Amino acid sequence: MSNAMKVIGIGALLFLVAFAIATGRWWRDWQAQLKIEPACSYNLKALWVVARLCSVKDKTPFPPPLPFIQRFWVDAGREVLLTPDMQKFLDLPTVAEGIYMDFRGILLCARDPDYLLKMAKMEQGLPYEPSYRWLPDARTLAECPYCRLAISLDGKLERRGTAKP
Ligand SMILES: [Zn+2]
Repeated sequence: MSNAMKVIGIGALLFLVAFAIATGRWWRDWQAQLKIEPACSYNLKALWVVARLCSVKDKTPFPPPLPFIQRFWVDAGREVLLTPDMQKFLDLPTVAEGIYMDFRGILLCARDPDYLLKMAKMEQGLPYEPSYRWLPDARTLAECPYCRLAISLDGKLERRGTAKP
């Protein structure tokens, strides 16, 4: 083998190793996320906060339609200064000065079979189908069909039946 070939070979090998490490890490993160159910309860609570903000700031009747929330608050990454009450509701560590938060990604449950595809679409600003059922009945704001968690119109998180394995 010539020296040039050796250099190319080593380069390709290094690339493959780096690629495998990056992919492995990403896979592990995703698997870890699947195990964290609170991620979904956070999302549902965050959706409730955003829905409230939407009707207060944009003067829309509560509950606002999902496409409205999605366009102006979730996908646009509009930042919100969280009040201590909101931080408490979202189970975030309360800080004295308040924190800005954007709500990208809150429409997706990590247990959605198309999670990765939808996440990729979301990150590229393409349209995607949210994981949650919006207004499935008269007292529910949103429901996750994968975790069987639901947030009611008054902001209470509830478990519905048993979760799919
Ligand atoms: Zn879920």
